[in-house]
Amino acid sequence: MKFRDLSDYYEKLSSISSRLEMIDLLAEMFSRAGKDEVRGIIYITQGVLAPPFEGIEFGMAEKMVEEAVAFSTGCTKKEVEVEYRKAGDMGKAAGLIKGRSRSRGLSSNELSVNQVHRSMLKIATTAGGGSKDLKIKMLASLLSQSSPLEAKYIVKYTMDELRLGLGDATILEALAAAYCGGRKHKAQLERAYNLCSDLGLVGEVAAAEGLVGISGFKVTLFKPIRPALAERLPTAEQIMERMGGTCAVEQKYDGFRCQIHKDGSKVKIFSRRLEDTTPMFPDLAAAVVNEIGEKSLILDGEALAYNNVTNEFLPFQETIQRKRKHNISEKVEQLPLHLFAFDIMSLGGKDLISEPYSKRRKALEATLAGSATMSPATMILASSPKELEDFFEKSVEEGLEGIVAKQLESEYVAGARKFSWIKMKRSYKGELSDTLDLVVVGYYLGRGMRSDFKFGGLLCATYNEKKDAFETISRIGTGFTEKQMSELQGILGKEVVREKPPRVESIVHPDFWVYPRHVVTVRADEITKSPTHTCGMEEGGGSGRVGLALRFPRLVGDEAIRKDKGPEDATTTKEVIEMYRNQKRVRAEDS
Ligand code: ATP
Repeated sequence: MKFRDLSDYYEKLSSISSRLEMIDLLAEMFSRAGKDEVRGIIYITQGVLAPPFEGIEFGMAEKMVEEAVAFSTGCTKKEVEVEYRKAGDMGKAAGLIKGRSRSRGLSSNELSVNQVHRSMLKIATTAGGGSKDLKIKMLASLLSQSSPLEAKYIVKYTMDELRLGLGDATILEALAAAYCGGRKHKAQLERAYNLCSDLGLVGEVAAAEGLVGISGFKVTLFKPIRPALAERLPTAEQIMERMGGTCAVEQKYDGFRCQIHKDGSKVKIFSRRLEDTTPMFPDLAAAVVNEIGEKSLILDGEALAYNNVTNEFLPFQETIQRKRKHNISEKVEQLPLHLFAFDIMSLGGKDLISEPYSKRRKALEATLAGSATMSPATMILASSPKELEDFFEKSVEEGLEGIVAKQLESEYVAGARKFSWIKMKRSYKGELSDTLDLVVVGYYLGRGMRSDFKFGGLLCATYNEKKDAFETISRIGTGFTEKQMSELQGILGKEVVREKPPRVESIVHPDFWVYPRHVVTVRADEITKSPTHTCGMEEGGGSGRVGLALRFPRLVGDEAIRKDKGPEDATTTKEVIEMYRNQKRVRAEDS
C-alpha cells in the first residue's frame, strides 16, 4: 500500500466521529493492504514504532522536526516556527509549507507504507555521537520525497500527534471485520492480543491465517501478557456470595507489579503497563536465575521493600524509591525487594493460562520452594464471610492494602477485570472504599492564589470499554500540592489541543482540552447523579439523561500522574456504575 493511500484514509478518519463508520473504513483499509504491510500499518496507526513493551521511541524533539521540515522545503526555521504557531500542529504546518514549496515531492507516488515505517524505525534507533544531525537529515530526506498530505502525516507520526481517535479495541474490531469473518469474532482477536500485547503481530497473523491462526495463539516468552485485573466488592458477604463456595484469599501487596519472563539466564521484567522495567530490578532478575531451578517460566507478582529480619512490610513510599533511574545499585543495597508471586502463566514451556487457579498455585509453590527473594503470596482458603473478614483484618493490621479473593476453578484471565478475582481494600469511614483512577481530558486556569500556577484543577473521565471512549465524571480542584500543580501545568500546558479530542464525551468545557493520556488517582466521598457529566449516561448509570459524578473529589498520592497506568487502564464506566449500586446497597443495609 502506498503511504499516500494510508494518508487519505487518515484524512477521512479524522473527519468522522461514528465508531461504526470508523471500523468500516479501517476494515476497508486493512483489506486493501498486503499481508506483509499490516503490521507496519497498525504500528503507524497506533502512533508507535513497535509494540510499546519494546520501548522504541522516536527521540525527535520539536526543534529537530522543525529543522527537518525547513531543510526539506528550503524555507527557514523561523518560517516553520511561525506556521507551527499559527496552525497549532506541526503536521498541519508541514503540509501547508510543503504545499507552497517548490520541492513538492514529485516522486511521492513511490513511498510505500513499509518504506515509511522502516525509515522511521531507522531514524528512531540511530544513536550515538552525531546522531542528532543524522536523524534530522534522514527525516528531511523522507519529507522531501513526500507530498504535502504525506508530509502532514509523517510529521504527526514523528511528533506523536496522530490522534486519530482509534483505541486498540476499535482496531481489533476492524481486523475482525477485514480478516476473520466479521466483527462478531472480535473476542478471539482480543484474546490473542491479551496473550502477546502486540497489536501488529495480531494483525499480521489475522491477515495471513485468519481465524484459525488467531485461535491458535499461545503465550510467548518475552511477549508480556496483559495483566489479569480484579473486580471490587465492599463486603466479605458479597465476595463470598459471588464466589459461590470456598475460595482462595490472598494478601494484597502494594508495590510494583512485576511480570517476570525467564529463559535460562535471560530474564525480563514487565510493569503493569507492560514496559520493560528489568534495569530497575537487577536483584530480582539475578534471583530468578539463581534461586529457581526451572529453566523457563512466566510469573506474576508484586515486589515490595520488605524487612526479612523483622518480617515487616515497608510503606509504598519506601518501595517507590526504586523508581528513580539513578542509584539503582545503592537502592538494591539499602532497600532490597521481595517478590510476592501470585500467579504462574507458563512453566517449562507449558502454557498454564487455562489451568485452574488451584493447579497454578501448586505449581507456583513448588517453583518457589527454594527461593529466599521470592515467595508465593500468603493465602488462606475461606468458606465463610467470617474467615475472609478475619484474614482481611489481619492483613490490614500488618500494614497491607487488603485482600484479593480468587475462584479456585478460574483460569488466568489476561487483560480483563473479571469476578474470578475480587479485591477488598481498607475502607475509610464515610468515604468510598476505593480510589478511582481517572483520565485527564482537560484542565482549568487558576483563580486567586492559584493564578500563579496557571492551574486550577482537572477535568477527569472514566474509560467506557464498550464505546472505546472517555466519559467525564468530575472536575478535581483539591488535593494538589504546589509542586504537583506546577508539574501538572508544565506537562499539560504543552499538550493543549484546540478542540475536544476525539473519544472524549463531555458536556462541560474546561479552559483547555488535552488528549486523554494521563491517569490520576482520586478519592471521593460518594458517587452522585449528575446532569453535567457523561459517565454512564447511556448505560442509564444515573438513569435517563443523567450521568454519574463524584462528591468531594480530591487528588491522592505523592505523584500526581500515575505512570504505571495508561488511559485504557483507568477505572471504567462499568466499574463506576457498579460502585454506585454497591454504595446504595451498603447504605440500605446500614439504615
Ligand atoms: P489498585 O490500584 O487497587 O492496585 P489496580 O487497578 O492497579 O488496582 P486491580 O486489578 O484493580 O489493579 O487490583 C489488583 C492489583 O493488586 C494488581 O494490579 C496487583 O498489582 C496488585 N496485587 C497485590 N497483591 C495481589 C494478589 N495477591 N493478587 C492479585 N493482585 C495483587
